[in-house]
This record gives sequence, C-alpha cells and structure tokens, in this order.
Amino acid sequence: MEGAEEHQIVIVGGGISGLATALALHRKGIKSVVLERGDSLRDEGGAIGILANGWRALDQLGLSVSDHLRQTAVLIQRSLMISLDDGIQKEFPLGVGETRCVKRGYLINALADALPFGTIRFGCSVISIELDSSTSYFPILHLLGGKTIIAKIVIGCDGGRSVIGKFVGLKPIKQFSHSSVRGLTNYPKGHTFKHEFIRWRKNDSSTLIGRIPIDEQYVYWFVAFKSSSPQVEETWKDNQELVREKISELVSVNKFPEEVIEMIKTSEVESISFTHSLKYRAPWDLVFGSFRKGTITVAGDALHVMGPFLGQGGSAGLEDAIVLARRLSKAGLGGEMEDEMMKKRVGEAMDDYIKERRRRLVGLSTQTYVTGMLIQGLPLFVKIFLILVMRVLFRDVSSHSKYDCGRL
Ligand SMILES: Cc1cc2nc3c(=O)[nH]c(=O)nc-3n(C[C@H](O)[C@H](O)[C@H](O)COP(=O)(O)OP(=O)(O)OC[C@H]3O[C@@H](n4cnc5c(N)ncnc54)[C@H](O)[C@@H]3O)c2cc1C
Repeated sequence: MEGAEEHQIVIVGGGISGLATALALHRKGIKSVVLERGDSLRDEGGAIGILANGWRALDQLGLSVSDHLRQTAVLIQRSLMISLDDGIQKEFPLGVGETRCVKRGYLINALADALPFGTIRFGCSVISIELDSSTSYFPILHLLGGKTIIAKIVIGCDGGRSVIGKFVGLKPIKQFSHSSVRGLTNYPKGHTFKHEFIRWRKNDSSTLIGRIPIDEQYVYWFVAFKSSSPQVEETWKDNQELVREKISELVSVNKFPEEVIEMIKTSEVESISFTHSLKYRAPWDLVFGSFRKGTITVAGDALHVMGPFLGQGGSAGLEDAIVLARRLSKAGLGGEMEDEMMKKRVGEAMDDYIKERRRRLVGLSTQTYVTGMLIQGLPLFVKIFLILVMRVLFRDVSSHSKYDCGRL
C-alpha cells in the first residue's frame, strides 16, 4: 500500500496495559510501536491500588520500575468496611503480600520511561482496522487524519470502548447503575491516618466511599454512588470544580464522617475524575468470547473492563502484558521468519495467551461483578442469593491477589 508505514507489532493505546505490553515485549528483545490518541500520557483517576498479584507482574517488568514505585507508596496494613447504617466495622483480609496505592502518573511515567525512545507515538487515533488481502491478510490500521499503518501484529490496549476489540468480535460492554468520582487530597503538614484502606458504606443512599493513603502527605479517595440521569451527569463532564462541589454536597447530605467530608472538599481539583456508570464486560462474554482474529488480539480493559470493586482492573492488565509477551517470545518473534510461518506461530501464541488468561479472567471478573452487584440496591432475595454465590465460589475473598502470572 503506497505511503503506508510498516511495523512488526503495533499496540493501540498508551494506557497502563499498552505501555506494560510494550515494555514486556522490549524486555524480551521484541520491538513494538504504541499508538496513543492523546497528545500526552493520561494519568486520569489520581491513583491506583495495586495488590500483590500486580506487584508480582510489575517485578517482571523490571525492578527498576517496581522498586521505584514501591518507594512512592506506603504499605497498606489492613482493610476495613464501616457500615454507617448500623455502625458495624468489619475487617477484610488484604491477602498475602503487599498492597500499595500508587499515583497513576508515577505508574504511567515509570512504564513509559523504561521504553526505548520513540516507542510511543502521540496524536495517533485509530479509527478502523481491516485485514489486507494483498499482504497475506495482515492488519491495516486507519488513523484519524488519513494515515495508514500496516502491521504484522496488532494488540488492542485501547480501553473499554476498544475499536480493536469490536473488530475481533467482542460483545459490547455493559454498565453498572453506579457512577464514581475519584480524587487526591494533599495534607501539606502530613495526615494522621493509619496505613489502612477504609470504606464507609451507607445502604439507604447506596453510597460507598473509600480512602487509602499513598504516602504521609497524600491520600486517594473514591465515591461510588447511584448514577443520576445521563443528562445531569453530562453537565459534570470536564468540570472538575462542579464535580467536587456536587460530591461534597452528596457526602454532607448523607452524613458521612466529618473527616471524609473535609477530605473531599479540600481535594486537589485537577485530580478529580468522574466516571459516569461504571463499565464491565460480562463474565459470561469472557467465557465464550473470541479474543483473536488473525494476528490481532486485545489486552487490558479492551479485553476485560471490570468495575473497581476489587481494585484489580489495572493489575489484570499488567498480568496480560507478561503472559502475552511470554507467549509471543516463545513463538520466535524477534528473529527473521517467513510471513506464513509467522502468521501460524503468532496465531498459536495468541491462542495460548487467550487460554491462559481466560481461566484467570472469568474468575476475577465474576467476583468483581458479584461484589459490584451487592452495592446496587437490589431486592433482598437477590442479595441473599449473591451472598451465597460469593460464599460458594469465593470462600477466600482475597484469593484473587494470590495469583501469580509467572515469569516473563
Ligand atoms: C473508578 C475506578 C477505580 C479503579 N481503581 C482501580 C484500582 O484501584 N486498581 C486497579 O488495578 N484498577 C483500578 N481500576 C481499573 C483501571 O483503571 C483500568 O483497568 C486500567 O486503567 C485500564 O488500563 P488500560 O490501559 O487497559 O485502558 P485505559 O486506561 O482506558 O487506556 C487506554 C488508552 O488507549 C487510548 N486509546 C483509546 N482508544 C484509542 C484509539 N482508537 N486509538 C489510539 N489510542 C486509543 C486512550 O487514550 C488511553 O490512553 C479502576 C477503574 C475505575 C473506573
């Protein structure tokens, strides 16, 4: 195709999973290019909780990345759920190993800084993809602005509304009836909170608030609440000041503890991020879905967007990166290979990746889904049923953090 750029591996999306995938491939000696539609790296969302499985994956990406991040965030010692309806306080196991909450900007930059210069291309928005009959059905990517890129392999890390996911045949994502607001609060003289992840829950208003310290000065918080109409929430978009004001009102009206109200009121306005109706890929779609077409596959939220109820979406994306790079490297990528042989080997490697990840992701997204449904204000008999499901399927509620994605 005249004028088209050619690359062996193109990763679409420069979020956590796209950057982690590029870095995992780089560590295996495989070159890739990351196409990111934004003009810079996105650190929206303030911070991210990383459980033991996520740290294991980060360690595989290099101790220079993981140890650097460890130094930015305190070790969380325990997790508490406080019900404001009856005052009952319950401790939840954090799982074996470390839990820390890392600023998103630090994570994204640590991954990007470890990549060879020029790997990330900003301002490249992929609008469609097709298989080119004139090049043994390798993928062609069409970019906003008319540019075309021919690739041997495409990995879609383009988030929940993935263009690549749609092409490989994934079903549309679904949404919970809850929206969320996240932010960071800076206590310049230091906060006095223990190193604990605390959630306050109010059933009558279906509101859940979480707070987790990042270091001695910063805390990350989130509020999950029943979505209002899309029209109302549309006015919140791109207006962080308004979102902070509305959320402060919501927590005051619902009489959350004074320290929580104060934390939200005094949060850094530029850190505020609003998600209208949290999204998820239905667990049953992960059981049966097809995640590959030719030499194209998906990873991260593009594959398994899930609610934030277990704090595992980002870590699952890190695991994807390790498993996919390991499989592709075993296929002999990095060396010279005939096109037909490459297609066959890459197809097999991607199938192995999908098989390995499907097992993990079906369990993780089912547990996240059921946990999310339990705060949705459902009829009592449905709640009892879901609690029984949890007891049977997820007796050890923190087992999801014990998972080890293995060596790169
Ligand atoms: C409220 C909330 C709280 C959360 N808390 C946690 C937590 O504590 N712990 C945790 O592990 N996870 C958490 N998650 C989940 C986590 O944020 C996501 O799983 C993670 O950010 C997904 O990363 P990703 O790279 O797959 O996708 P994204 O972060 O969506 O990145 C996709 C990237 O692709 C780019 N892109 C999209 N389309 C195109 C295109 N067509 N062409 C080029 N580029 C494109 C986007 O600009 C973006 O940079 C939370 C999520 C939410 C909503």
